Amino acid sequence: MSITETSTTGQASAVSSATQSASPGETFDVLNPGSGEVVNTYPAAGPDEVRAVVERARLAAAWWRAQGTAGRTRVLKRWRSHLVNHADHLIDVVHNETGKPRGDAQLEVVLAVEHLAWATKHAPKVMKRRSVFPGLLMSNMAATLEYQPLGVIGVIGPWNYPVFTPMGSIAYALAAGNAVVFKPSEYTPGVGHWLSNSFAAACAQPVLQCVTGMGATGAALVDAKVDKIAFTGSTATGKRIMAAAAEHLTPVLMECGGKDAMLVDADADLEAAADAATWGAMSNAGQTCVGVERVYVHGDVYDEFVDRVVDKASALTVGSGDDAQIGPITMPKQIGIIAGHISDALDKGGRALLGGPGAVGERVVGPTVLVDVPDDSLAMTEETFGPTIVITRVASMDEAIERTNNSAFGLGSTVFSKARGAELAARIRSGMTAVNSVISFAAIAALPFGGIGDSGFGRIHGADGIREFTRAKSVARQRFAAPLALTSFDRTKKTDELVGKAIKLLHGRAG
Ligand code: NAD
Repeated sequence: MSITETSTTGQASAVSSATQSASPGETFDVLNPGSGEVVNTYPAAGPDEVRAVVERARLAAAWWRAQGTAGRTRVLKRWRSHLVNHADHLIDVVHNETGKPRGDAQLEVVLAVEHLAWATKHAPKVMKRRSVFPGLLMSNMAATLEYQPLGVIGVIGPWNYPVFTPMGSIAYALAAGNAVVFKPSEYTPGVGHWLSNSFAAACAQPVLQCVTGMGATGAALVDAKVDKIAFTGSTATGKRIMAAAAEHLTPVLMECGGKDAMLVDADADLEAAADAATWGAMSNAGQTCVGVERVYVHGDVYDEFVDRVVDKASALTVGSGDDAQIGPITMPKQIGIIAGHISDALDKGGRALLGGPGAVGERVVGPTVLVDVPDDSLAMTEETFGPTIVITRVASMDEAIERTNNSAFGLGSTVFSKARGAELAARIRSGMTAVNSVISFAAIAALPFGGIGDSGFGRIHGADGIREFTRAKSVARQRFAAPLALTSFDRTKKTDELVGKAIKLLHGRAG
């Protein structure tokens, strides 16, 4: 069966649907978002097939763990080298499946490789057994803590950064000693296959496998009793996955949507801020979870900032050609959402200084700059995921913080300020903040990446991203018999009295 349909905008599309059935033997087409041509056809894996893949992954996980850190490091370095030396091919697959310009595809591959290198290098140190202080009451003990792999991780990915985003889970999970079963987006199954095939070129064991299909294949993976689900995608799907995972008490990592804000203070470098706002909002055609969607600008510099953004955005090239800076919208149904947000903003009193409803085409959306948009507009509250930006004048940075934090989402954020960058960053309710730069936190491998509120929980990247795919293992070993036997029925009244006195001495004083 070919899972294609005609969307509201008249384009044929590979359909994303959580309710679509996906029995073994069915297939679905992936269409090039720029041309509408079929890129390739993939099998939609059903529950039996997914369970079989997870069974294979269980055996591979035991093998992978037994390799130890030295063995795993050797394989992961081989894989990294393969990725780098065949990157052109991967970039083509990303370009054909998502429509994004090749330069943007290269950027995500480069960042993914950086993260793989960091995770490979640091996992042994992060997980290594270490001694911890047992406390005075337990000073006859030696206490050690180590982090052990969980086993099999199910990674469910989105299409917007089909390499960078899932690799934030895959690379860290593998480096932590787990096997991975990856369910890529139905829009980018070729990327998923490419990644697992490239791993196979570096390792004969099925430590990284890929299952393709629609939402139902993802649901089958959640039901397959893996040891953790690492999900990246929309908040709505995240909630469904969490509910399903609860059935087996499977832990979940949720990397969901955002509505990221940028704050521009009166003393900001306006040229740099306008450049960052334009790129942050419109690169990858605005289809970035940590893209800039709202900007709050101090009244003293508002007019100049708006002019600069409009100038920069007007100069962008849009289309499917090699010279385009803004490519097509990958998921056809998103075009209707973007159009809805623009018209809702205008209906409620907003103005389009650039673009607007006329910028919404069949496959592409032109840059759109909106101002005077009320706070209750969809463009201010929901993820737009298009090359649009809403700029709002504020009287002070306190007001900017208040309006920024008045959102159900809390993924990334940006601050442009010469004097108050760190202070303002600390007050924003979001997982990450870039100061006088944009989205820079995603490229620093040592920094954990993730959100709060409707943007999800848990972290990829950094040491926290390694621990996310491990369990803490605590061991307390008695070195010598304690003078006071606490954990025995032989404990005497005298011991109880001494313990009562000791705890007062240790913790009784407030100062
Ligand atoms: P989506 O939620 O539609 O799909 C994500 C994945 O979930 C796909 O592989 C899909 O097949 C699968 N899926 C769908 N229903 C499922 C179910 N019931 N059970 C299991 N799996 C199911 O999201 P999308 O449109 O692919 O991605 C765009 C979204 O991802 C945006 O909201 C964006 O902000 C978010 N995103 C977040 C981050 C982050 O790090 N926080 C990064 C990239 C994208």
